[in-house]
Amino acid sequence: MSLLVVGTTALDSIKTPYAENPRLLGGSASHAAIAASFFTKTHLVGAVGDDFPRKYINLYRKHGLCLEGLEQLSGQTFHWSGEYEVNMNNRRTLDTVLGVIESYSPTLNASNAKLPYVLLANIAPDVQGRVLDQMSRAKFIVADTMDLWLNIARDPLLKLLKRIDCLVLNDSEAAQLVEEDNVIAAIPRIHKLGPKYVIVKKGEHGSILSSPKGLFIAPAYPLKKVIDPTGAGDSFVGGLMGYLASSKGGLEKNLRASIVQGSVTASFCCEGFGLQKTTRIKKSDITKRVRELTRMVAW
Ligand code: AMP
Repeated sequence: MSLLVVGTTALDSIKTPYAENPRLLGGSASHAAIAASFFTKTHLVGAVGDDFPRKYINLYRKHGLCLEGLEQLSGQTFHWSGEYEVNMNNRRTLDTVLGVIESYSPTLNASNAKLPYVLLANIAPDVQGRVLDQMSRAKFIVADTMDLWLNIARDPLLKLLKRIDCLVLNDSEAAQLVEEDNVIAAIPRIHKLGPKYVIVKKGEHGSILSSPKGLFIAPAYPLKKVIDPTGAGDSFVGGLMGYLASSKGGLEKNLRASIVQGSVTASFCCEGFGLQKTTRIKKSDITKRVRELTRMVAW
């Protein structure tokens, strides 16, 4: 089945201790939708400015994304720049220029409004909410978020949590959301805010799914070298939702398998700047790593 992904479609300027790359294709929706496209038909909803390079639209097309929901507005494309420390985990935002997304309110066409799987990738929670207002047949809704919204848009975020099936967030965001540093203790408190399913990402240490059937612990694919982790979280949830939308059978079993596919998809993201590696792999590369990872955790 098809998947709708809404979020930011951005230009990212990324600096690591080893290299610097300006104006790469980035944004939560770009990473998530391209990751999802390996598994299912994916519809992208977002806004770019008139400076958005044609080659990036072509890259979206190469991945078969449906672009009917991608608006080109007059003004600048959302631009984010960030810098990583030597450990490649600590990141500092250097600058954020909202550009056209400052006043962006997505309008879905009739076919996008009927899609069964919905990924509200990281963007302001009121924008995520306005997308949900227009969805008429959603079967499974997942939302991602970030510390910024916990700081400046807590109320709209809390309202959104009552309307979604699954929240995906990282361990520090989980601690901040419910003021509890222990992830395992934080999870039941997050369920109380609304979502029946909670997925906590722990970077290179994998992720935890909490569902009515209990906990599932998923590893990350071990990498010798990380070039740039920007977008890994978005690729994780994109791969996860793409795989889930393509699966038949029980939700719990499919979610577990989807998390493993999402982890592996995210591993490729870390091996290149921005989307450079992810846009060069094939689905068979993901399948091969999933097999390797499965062997690594079997006993
Ligand atoms: P991640 O590394 O998974 O946290 O995602 C990084 C991506 O998030 C980059 O491609 C950025 O363009 C995008 N991003 C950065 N800041 C924001 C923001 N405030 N809202 C939405 N997306 C953002």
